[in-house]
Amino acid sequence: MLESVFRVYFLIGLIANDLLFTVDAGRMKQNRVIDDRKTGLEFPLSILAFLGMQVIPVLYVLTSWLDFADYHLSTWAGLVGAAIFTVALWLYWRSHADLGRNWSPLLQIKGGHSLVTHGVYQYIRHPIYAADWLWGIAQALLLQNWIAGLAALASVLPVYLYRVPREEQMMLEHFGEEYRLYMSRTGRVIPRLRR
Ligand code: SAH
Repeated sequence: MLESVFRVYFLIGLIANDLLFTVDAGRMKQNRVIDDRKTGLEFPLSILAFLGMQVIPVLYVLTSWLDFADYHLSTWAGLVGAAIFTVALWLYWRSHADLGRNWSPLLQIKGGHSLVTHGVYQYIRHPIYAADWLWGIAQALLLQNWIAGLAALASVLPVYLYRVPREEQMMLEHFGEEYRLYMSRTGRVIPRLRR
């Protein structure tokens, strides 16, 4: 019974997050791109993340096709998953609000791009990717299935490993010393203890 509540909670959060993404993607189109770092791998990796974080979990919640691979965790694990999922949704929302018009789904620099170091960005450089990791952990606890539960973690890992060094290189090229200093006082997805 509670397992279905966890699945429904996941679905509601996913829809809310998609609405936020759609609003931001619409706003972002108004900005001129001055540096585009698109490579042949960006598109397949985005599709992989979309499959792992959206398509497979939604199929799992709405059909019984993947039920053969279910596992069962305690109620506590599900509740912890719901709490982590809530933090992930909050972090997506705050990061998008703090990044404002500088956000883009791909690695790009816009006309009038400014370096954001306030809000959640004062603690970590990649709060959106941190939210992806939290989402992945929460998905494994809320959707108790070897395929649907682990699909997000499996798809976030290659995206993270491929994108982060390239994004930081792009930011260093554009913001130079300002970004280097910012790197020295922040962590990638976990805040630095000593600054
Ligand atoms: N890596 C960040 C942002 C992801 S969105 C996060 O996880 O929150 C990707 C775009 O954000 C990149 O194209 C880059 O131009 C922009 N970006 C990343 N960090 C930024 C920052 N601190 N200030 C302004 N723009 C940033």
